[in-house]
Amino acid sequence: MQTLPSFVLGSRHLATGGFQSLENPVTEELVAQASSAGLDYAQVVRFGREVGGRHLRALTFAERGALLAKCSAAIHAQRDALIELSRINGGTTRGDGKFDIDGATGTLTFYASLGEKLGARTHLVDGESVQLGRTARHSGLHVRVSRPGVAVHINAFNFPAWGMMEKFACSILAGVPVIEKPGTPTAMLAARIAELIVEANIMPEGSFQFVCGSLGDMLDHLGPHDVLAFTGSSATGAKLRGNANLVRQNVHVTLECDSLNAAVLAPDVEESSETYALFLRNVALDMTQKTGQKCTAVRRIFVPKERAAQVQADLVDALSRIPVGDPADEKMRMGPVASKAQFEDVSKGIARLAAHGTVACGGAARLYPKGWFLAPTLIVARDAADPAHHAEEVFGPCASLLPYEGDATTAAALVNKGGGGLVCSAYSNDAVWSERFTLEAAPWHGRVWLASDKNADQALPPGMVLPHSIHGGPGRAGGGEELGAERGLELYMQRTAVQGFKGMLDALLPKQA
Ligand code: NAP
Repeated sequence: MQTLPSFVLGSRHLATGGFQSLENPVTEELVAQASSAGLDYAQVVRFGREVGGRHLRALTFAERGALLAKCSAAIHAQRDALIELSRINGGTTRGDGKFDIDGATGTLTFYASLGEKLGARTHLVDGESVQLGRTARHSGLHVRVSRPGVAVHINAFNFPAWGMMEKFACSILAGVPVIEKPGTPTAMLAARIAELIVEANIMPEGSFQFVCGSLGDMLDHLGPHDVLAFTGSSATGAKLRGNANLVRQNVHVTLECDSLNAAVLAPDVEESSETYALFLRNVALDMTQKTGQKCTAVRRIFVPKERAAQVQADLVDALSRIPVGDPADEKMRMGPVASKAQFEDVSKGIARLAAHGTVACGGAARLYPKGWFLAPTLIVARDAADPAHHAEEVFGPCASLLPYEGDATTAAALVNKGGGGLVCSAYSNDAVWSERFTLEAAPWHGRVWLASDKNADQALPPGMVLPHSIHGGPGRAGGGEELGAERGLELYMQRTAVQGFKGMLDALLPKQA
């Protein structure tokens, strides 16, 4: 069985004990083992901060962007082999494997271009200078500079490639070295990507380290310029945020957590319209892509009460036409959930939701004697306001159908019962309804996605995280913010107000072209 490596302190580390087993969720065979036992975590932090930081901060944005472009190329060159690894350890179909790996290379390429655009400088100017004295001679300006620290990135199991590389891209471009930790159950793909980057000798010494397995006491060694960016469950996020050292040292922490993402059909949408067809397509895709193990997957589907029976029939029809099985068979469009633990969680979650409605299709039962397969599951809520449907994220191919009555404000109030989400999508051709819904839902969401007949033929699905827009959300979703083009660098850069003679500020801090 393969032992997955860590890459730290400029070399490859293979543990000799303390292993966690990784399995193939289709065959239930063990495929690899991971452990970080034997690492000196404090030394890993120091090496990144001191050696990696020094090298990265000496580079301009354009030079850092060029590193990202090389990483993207190194990963893309092994695309097929990586898709295969994703299948073996994650149970993904070819489409789902591509989604993760192309998401990683696409995000790297996006930030490589941004680096090129930001050019031959190492800092950013934020906003315009303002007059502070009697005349403009005494002025103030805000500047962003790289934090002289290290960024620890803790990633979830569901996007071993994309999740890791989106954090990596922002941090490296901002000039902050990274220590990447993958979610252990699916770490084979992340470990191979790390190996490709190391073998290609792209990154300056110390700027990229990869720890496979536990982080040990690493968080206890972070200081005021370091960053912790976490993606995973709210429970783990809350535990990490409470770490005494992180609190004491005011370490910059951002959390990307659970989300009960919603899709809302407005009363005006005709069944014959392009918008209705898109609604059905996107909901079915979101529920089944990556077997529903997507932080942006739809968990709650709100439909006007008088339309509920039709929508239920249409969705059941769409979901039942999705072949579920071994992703080695190219006809399959949905694979298993990623592990036994994941299966048990999802199965229990479905059973809990089913007690608060009726199961229109699917259910909590295992689909085949071998492998962690579940059927796409739609549960029709008895009451759209029942807290059971707004309280728990079931991280698998399952969603609740919630028939609602009332206007856009009522619909948004129900959506907001999710307690803070990454994305909510709304389908309407009524501009007044859409505007009202957007303004009511926006404070509770990182992203509001709107479709109408005007953009239905162009809109990428709401579950797609694009580097152009921010990703994150308030409340339950963790309160964090990632990506969003240049905004993605903010976490890794200190904003400082500089006040002085305007001529001096203009010369020292010219605004980038
Ligand atoms: P998880 O169990 O919370 O684990 C997330 C990460 O935290 C893993 O790398 C895990 O390592 C690590 N971890 C756990 N305990 C730790 C500790 N005490 N110290 C340091 N690291 C620790 O979540 P998951 O099951 O991997 O992922 C599923 C969850 O992630 C879902 O709730 C999903 O909604 C959420 N998610 C959110 C987003 C977003 O952008 N908001 C994106 C993807 C996923 P091990 O694997 O080694 O335990």
